[in-house]
This record gives sequence, structure tokens and C-alpha cells, in this order.
Amino acid sequence: ICGWVNNTGAAVIIDAEGEEYKLRIFIAELIRQPPVLASVEKFEITQEKLKCYESFEIRQSTEEMSTIRFISQDIGVCAKCMEEVSDPNSRRYRYAFTNCTDCGPRYSIIKSLPYDRHNTVMKNFRQCGKCSEEYNNPRSRRYHTQPNCCSDCGPSLFLTDCRGNAIDCDDPITKTVEFVKEGRIAAIKGIGGFHLCCDAFNPEAINELRRRKSRPHKPFAVMAANINYVLKHCELSSYEQELLSSVKRPIVLLKKKENSLLPGSIAPGLKRLGMMLPYSPLYYLLFEEGINMLIMTSGNIGGSPIQYENREAIQRLNEIADFFLLHNRDIYNPIDDSVVKVAVGKEMVSRRARGYIPYAQKLSESDETIALGAEEKSTICVAHSGYAYMSRYLGDLKDFDTYEQFISEIEKLSSLYQFKPKVYVHDLHPQYMSSRYAVEQQGGIASVQHHHAHMASCMMEHKLYDNVIGVVFDGTGLGDDGSIWGGEFLLGNRKSFQRAGHLKTVLLQDGDTAIKEPWRCAAAYLLQLGYDPEDFLKDVSTDDIKIIRQALASNLNCHLSSSMGRLFDCTAYIIGIRQSITYDAQAAIELENIIDASIGGQHYSYSINEKNNILELDYSGIISDLLTDRKCSIHASVMSAKFHNTISKATVDTLIKLRERHQINQIVLSGGVFENTYLLES
Ligand code: ZN
Ligand code: ZN
Repeated sequence: ICGWVNNTGAAVIIDAEGEEYKLRIFIAELIRQPPVLASVEKFEITQEKLKCYESFEIRQSTEEMSTIRFISQDIGVCAKCMEEVSDPNSRRYRYAFTNCTDCGPRYSIIKSLPYDRHNTVMKNFRQCGKCSEEYNNPRSRRYHTQPNCCSDCGPSLFLTDCRGNAIDCDDPITKTVEFVKEGRIAAIKGIGGFHLCCDAFNPEAINELRRRKSRPHKPFAVMAANINYVLKHCELSSYEQELLSSVKRPIVLLKKKENSLLPGSIAPGLKRLGMMLPYSPLYYLLFEEGINMLIMTSGNIGGSPIQYENREAIQRLNEIADFFLLHNRDIYNPIDDSVVKVAVGKEMVSRRARGYIPYAQKLSESDETIALGAEEKSTICVAHSGYAYMSRYLGDLKDFDTYEQFISEIEKLSSLYQFKPKVYVHDLHPQYMSSRYAVEQQGGIASVQHHHAHMASCMMEHKLYDNVIGVVFDGTGLGDDGSIWGGEFLLGNRKSFQRAGHLKTVLLQDGDTAIKEPWRCAAAYLLQLGYDPEDFLKDVSTDDIKIIRQALASNLNCHLSSSMGRLFDCTAYIIGIRQSITYDAQAAIELENIIDASIGGQHYSYSINEKNNILELDYSGIISDLLTDRKCSIHASVMSAKFHNTISKATVDTLIKLRERHQINQIVLSGGVFENTYLLES
């Protein structure tokens, strides 16, 4: 077969000439067995005039007029490359940046399309003779591997102390391992940004990292040398094993084995651990010298975004890290590790980032639109030329650095996809940073109710078009009646909805503080139901309760809320789990964590009432039963199970009523509360 192939950024064009049967085989093979990293979205075949080519060649990439553009994700290092890295006779022995056509960085290094070396940060490194030979040889695994490099011509590692002064050493990796063994904390520049790293078997180092990072409880992720160490400490199904070892190499949430000797301080009070495997030669090499498991947490402070530039990282992280393992390859698109888990036998993505971004989903119709997301867990989505492209997970826009990255992400998406938004879509809440940004732009704007957006996203993911019942349980979202929603039963489709039911409202004082201090939620619920909070909130001062009581009585800085997240917080407090929290959804996560599933279907009482044609799920029975159980010293894990069973049973009951009334059988579930695997599965 003669002809040529090239990359246009939008598509691969192959002009092939040959005998018909050979062409048929060629096409069939391409469809049946595309290159490892290829995902074939569409195949178009047309007949052209014979041009009588005499060879087959790869032609220079072109910038086509077409507006559909795809970018590959960062891919975990492949076995063949690791063989070379481990082989003392290979010229890439212990070379941390080894990659090939089947593996290595993509998204994190690309500046513009088409994906060619000069459009990536690798532009700064000129290939040596041996590397360019591989690059130009069709028989080489590294034929046209854009980030191809070796220790003679590619990026290199170096070590500095916490002030950025060079530490002289023969091998920065060996020295890093030595320091980590001594209990020191490293800041390591990886593929998408910095990690803070220490020995996962050293409780003192872990506690020190927690102290310096001001992160008392939020779980740390662990990187294991290989799958055997994961198997030793966690229970995992073959599917979980597959996810863990996939080319995307996400953090997978796994059940910790009871006999695991990993310190409890990695994930205080939790039965699950976030585990991942090394995904670049650099990480593999860290395990070569007798270290089996490492804490690998994002190199950031508080809720700020991950650090990705050498100088800035040294400035920001110098009070957390004892030393820095750096390299001179820039990261153009910073990206965190992804977090996934298996629920109902399927992969659920909790944080869509490295390996999972860029993510493009086909749309049935689209206008040039940018959706700016909400505020606390910001993610952007661009609808362009028939595809929806999602950004990486950004974080809380109230944090100034995150907001800056939000702006820069919009600019990068616009330039990568050559996209100019006509319409800016924002959350109904006018005070969100994303909403404020939207109204300042030139172009159309549209606002979307938070929970309707949740419902529509699930419909799109599962390609549903007809009316559905959407169950959306989360923490906070402004409703179209001005109150705070979060325990919603919506009826409708992608375009419109009506509120068909909701959790009974409660008057809450100062929403932001109530989220951080679950006792405040508990006090509000108890007061609403006519209980005296002082009888139950034994560890809260009388004065604090008095302030809440007065604020609620005078409706000062208060709002009505139907949030399911807050009912979980209130329950966690009554059961005795948490008075205050130090990370998002901590009370609910710990409440799920202690469930005693062996009690079967036992549950608390509840009722479903109707007001103005809207169903109302009444929690009065739940709270009063919880208080009775508490008085009888029922075990917290039993109370937690009964509470969860109640929510799932009440939800199903409400759904049955709605289904009978509206003749709708499609149900979608969305919202942060459904991160709760027990609730989702039941
Ligand atoms: Zn490779
Ligand atoms: Zn080279």
C-alpha cells in the first residue's frame, strides 16, 4: 500500500493506494486493532483519483480549517519503556523521562495543536543523534514520539534544599530515597505538578506532614511500588486491579485490610485508602531502594491548586517540604491525580484529572458555549463543534490562586480548541465567582439552576432525552425560589424542570459556618422540631447555643434549606461522630464509614407529605428515632446503618409516588451525597 498519512489536529487523514483486497484488509485492521492510544471516534472513507504514489510516508502535520480537535491524555509509562529503564545495558537505564509512542506525557506538555514537538514544552530540548534516528525510523517504537528524549538530550533531575539551594549529589533519586528513609518530607515535581512525599510506614513523618500542611484529618493518597503491595494492604477486585494498573493510573479508593500495618494516620478513622501505582519512570525509580509505599499528596497549601513551577513551588512549599526533587521540563497544563472508585460494579470518577482529561463527549447539538460550573468544586465545560470538552478539576474559586487558574484554564481551553464562546452559562447563584465572571464577559449569558445542571449532566452522560425524575442530593445550591436546595426530586428534561419533591426545609443560620460545624446544623434541626438543644449538645457551650437560638428566632443571617448534606451533618453529630470538620464532607464520609450493614433493612420512621402539589420528605421521625436510640446507647454503627436505610427507603418511596403520578420510569441520581457508595448501591 502506498500513499501518505498526516495529523490535522481534527483527524488523521490516510491517502492509501493499492489492490482492492489489500486496502480492505488494511481498513479492517485499522478498525479492529488501532494503535494502543488511539480511540476511533468516526471512520470516513471516500474514493479519490489514482495518484500513483511510489512509497508510503508520514507527512508534516497540518493545521486544518476543521474545528474538531482532540488532545491525548497523559499516559502511564509502558512495560517496554520500564524494561529499558531497568536494564543497565540500555542507554535509557535509570532515565526518569523515558517514554515512547505508547506512553508518556501528552496533555500536560502541549501548548497548541497539532500535537508536534514544537508545540509542546519539549521544544526546548533538541534531540541528539540517536534520538532523532529513532524518531525518524518507521521501525522504531519511538517513530514520531513527540516527547522522545534521553539523558544526553532530554530533561534532567536535580535536588535543592527547602530554600532552593542546589544539593550536590551523584544521583538525585538515590539521594531522595536516602532522605525519605530518614523521615524527611520531599516535594517532587512529577507529570502534572508537585507531590509532597514521605515514607508511608513512618508515622512521625506523616504526622509532621499533617502538621506542616495544616491538614489534620483529610486522607492522604499512597503510591505503592507495585500491585503486590496493594494486595497486601487492601482488598481489591479484579476490576479494581484493572483500574489501578490502567494507562490512566488513577488513585483508586480501596478497602483497607484489617491486618494492614500501614499507619492509621494516613486516612484517620476511615476504612478506605486511596492507592495508586507509579506512572512515570521517575516514580518507579523512587521505589528501587527498599521503599515500598510512599505518601503522595498534592503539592499545595490548603485548598489552593497544585503547584507546578519550580520557583513558585519553592516559594510556596518551603515550610512544608525539607527538600525538592526538581526537573527542567516545564508543565504547561498542570493537572492533579484522578480519583476513582468502583460502585455498583462500575467505575465512578470522583476527581477527573490526569489520564481522564481532556475528556470529550459527543453532543447531539451544540452552540459555542462555555459552562462555568458552580463555585466550590469548580470545573469548566466547553461545547464546541459538536463535542463537550471538560476541563480538569480546579477546586474552590473562593481561593484566589484557584480563581486565577480558572481564568487561565478558560484561556488555555479557548486557544487549544480555537474556541470563542458565544454564550456563558453560569450557576443561578449571582454571588459565585463563576457567575460574576460570566456577567462581565462580552457575549450572551444564561443561568442554570444548580440541581437541574446536576440532573442534565447525568442525562447527557447516559444519553437520555425524554423526561426523567432527577434525584439530586448535595450540600448547597440556590433554588429558583431563593431558598437553599439540596434534597431535590426534579421532573423534566435537559431544557426545563419542575420541582416535584424535596426534603423538608429547616431554618439554618450562617450557612458557611454551619457546613464546617455540624453541631450548628443539629441545633437548628432540634430547635425546629421543638427540642431543647441544651439537652443534647452536651459538648457545646450554653452561650454558643444561645447565640444560635436568638439568631434563628430573629431570622438573622438565616436561610431555609432543604439540603440532604446538612441532614447527614446533623445525624453525624447526634450519633456522636463529629462536632466540627476539617475537610469537605468529613462528617458524612465518617458516617458512611462506620455503617454496620449486618442489621439488614432496619430503618427509622419518616413520612411523605404533600404541599401545593410538591412532595415533602419529612425528617421529624428520623430525628426523634435517632434521639431515642442515642438515649438507649445503641451503637453508632447501627444508628448509621438505620439512618442510611431510611434515606434510601424514603427516596424509593417518593420515587414510586412520582412515577405513578407522572408515568416516568427513567430516574437519574446525581449530587455529592451520592459519592456515598452505600446509599448509591442501596
Ligand atoms: Zn513506552
Ligand atoms: Zn537523546
